[in-house]
Amino acid sequence: MSNLSASIVLITGAASGIGAATATALAGAGARKLILVDRDEDRLRDFAFTLPCERQLIVGDVCDESLWAAADLTGLTHAVVNAGIAAGGMIDALSFAEWRRVMSVNLDGAFLTLQAAMRAMRGSKGAIVLTASAAGIKAEPGIAAYGASKAAVIQLARIAAKEGATAGIRVNCVAPGGVATPIWSDAPFFQDLVRSQGSEEAAFAALGSQATPLGRLATPEEIAAQIVFLLSDEAAFTTGACLVSDGGYSL
Ligand code: NAD
Repeated sequence: MSNLSASIVLITGAASGIGAATATALAGAGARKLILVDRDEDRLRDFAFTLPCERQLIVGDVCDESLWAAADLTGLTHAVVNAGIAAGGMIDALSFAEWRRVMSVNLDGAFLTLQAAMRAMRGSKGAIVLTASAAGIKAEPGIAAYGASKAAVIQLARIAAKEGATAGIRVNCVAPGGVATPIWSDAPFFQDLVRSQGSEEAAFAALGSQATPLGRLATPEEIAAQIVFLLSDEAAFTTGACLVSDGGYSL
């Protein structure tokens, strides 16, 4: 992954889960500087402190246009468009406010981040990865807003790949299935599972064994490794792809 050793990489949703694991992996690959974005200031500061490379913190909401207008992305070579939220609800019971909340973070936020990154990367011949989801591929009841937002992210990345190609910018998606991160914590069904299983770790194990052919959830580090691969020159001829890493969930 030698081309990442001089990289300046933007990562959104960097304070937790997949974003934090990706930042750690990129620091390990020798990234020159990480530009870390998250709306959870305390968590972002605590996490960034652990990274052995130059870092720039941007605290705020990825759906806020003014955040991107003010962001200094000088010299950007790579980006990981990762911030997202999960929410459930059957269509007949889903409020429009909840639909908009999910679309706003997962799709509007992805668009604004991607746009800022593509503008900053003009001439850099770099690469961008968006975190989609297997939920954007496989239809399941109860995930209309989340699944539709992630399906849109996959198509957004494909179009960005065509638009970016002439400038030498590659754009790909990673589509995880279930990953053991705090994104699940607020979901009522997951809280029930934690109560019935006795711990969050046991709840993740139960969820993975029920939902995934490989019988477990992914770790955030496993997904980070796929993202780093897509950012690197190892994937130099890959653009517009959606790398499904879901333990067989979407089959
Ligand atoms: P996480 O909750 O651990 O981390 C998400 C981070 O994004 C948090 O630090 C949060 O503060 C930040 N964030 C959320 N909304 C934001 C906003 N509007 N502006 C700025 N920061 C914001 O979750 P994760 O599992 O690491 O999720 C990362 C991405 O992976 C998301 O896009 C998610 O949809 C996707 N994903 C997760 C799973 C899974 O099972 N965990 C599966 C498939 C896809």
